[in-house]
Amino acid sequence: MSTTERIAALRERLRERGLDAAVITHPSNRFWLSGYTGEDIPPNESSGHLVIGLEAAYLVTSRLNAEQARHEATGFTIYDRERDFAKADTAIIRELGARRVGFEDQAILYRDYRTLQDELDEGVELVALETLVDDLRAVKTPEEIELIARAQALTDQAFMQVAPTIRPGQTEREIAWRLEQALRDLGADGPAFPIAVASGPNGALPHYRPTDRQVRPGEPIVIDMGAMLAGYCADLTRTVWLGEAGEQLEHVFEVVLAALEAAEVGIRAGMTGKEADALARDVIAAAGYGEAFTHSLGHGVGVRVHEAPYLSPRGDRPLEAGHVVTIEPGIYIPGWGGVRIEDLAVVEPDGLRILTTVPKRITILP
Ligand code: ZN
Ligand code: ZN
Repeated sequence: MSTTERIAALRERLRERGLDAAVITHPSNRFWLSGYTGEDIPPNESSGHLVIGLEAAYLVTSRLNAEQARHEATGFTIYDRERDFAKADTAIIRELGARRVGFEDQAILYRDYRTLQDELDEGVELVALETLVDDLRAVKTPEEIELIARAQALTDQAFMQVAPTIRPGQTEREIAWRLEQALRDLGADGPAFPIAVASGPNGALPHYRPTDRQVRPGEPIVIDMGAMLAGYCADLTRTVWLGEAGEQLEHVFEVVLAALEAAEVGIRAGMTGKEADALARDVIAAAGYGEAFTHSLGHGVGVRVHEAPYLSPRGDRPLEAGHVVTIEPGIYIPGWGGVRIEDLAVVEPDGLRILTTVPKRITILP
């Protein structure tokens, strides 16, 4: 699906909701709709807004980014923001004659929202889009699935190059850096998120930044990484150990693996996120570790590494063919460590197609 088709899909949704324009301020939605790769500096420095009417589409940006914008966002008229994004948005909305204007309530600066409110003509209504664009993005086209699969293949390859070379005494930071180098050497644009290497007790924190701690034989080492390639993300977690696993690690690993397999075999299009999550959660709870599975089973992956749909106990939406999701059960025990195994999969009409190729168990000599 080209950006032209994506804009057509957005316009269809706008019409359904009686809107005649939308201001797009979420960077991922902006990229997905326009192809423009301008970099933002969160939380308050934007490199562009889109104003999309039913007939015309504008990319508002600074003069500095105009050349890049013209090159990348070919379906858009490039509009100089001059001093203020929201004032430029207002001018375009006036030019379009739009009366009901959608805005991204989950990704707009309060300052910009106030400017729109103050500057728009009397009678022009601002309407929250909620997750309208995110929902459009959630179902991937075959071309997008191909891009994600390439990012995942590259991630798998980088992991398999580095993991077998981990030795006692190497630090978490050193291992994370070598993984990042491998990603880049293999052609990734960079990591999709900061690589996590969490050894021993550090593995009890599901999102963890690597430290100078040296890895030791027999303890779990949780590695979470993903490549960014052509705007699309990958996501992989494996738990490895050097030499022999102790009894507890062996047991916890088997429970997490059984939970992963139950979910991967059982998930179908049409199930809700909650039902999918329960497939794994029930296995972990039955083994007595219910309290130790502290996060949801998975999330969508696309131009962002966390996006809709959500496989969580609160996920009430049904999974659809074309969703790309992670399956990542985990058990975390404070003071001891954690085990998480994460695969990336495409939801197909009759089940999941797993994109990840890394073995679940990797033997590493001490
Ligand atoms: Zn991950
Ligand atoms: Zn993940």
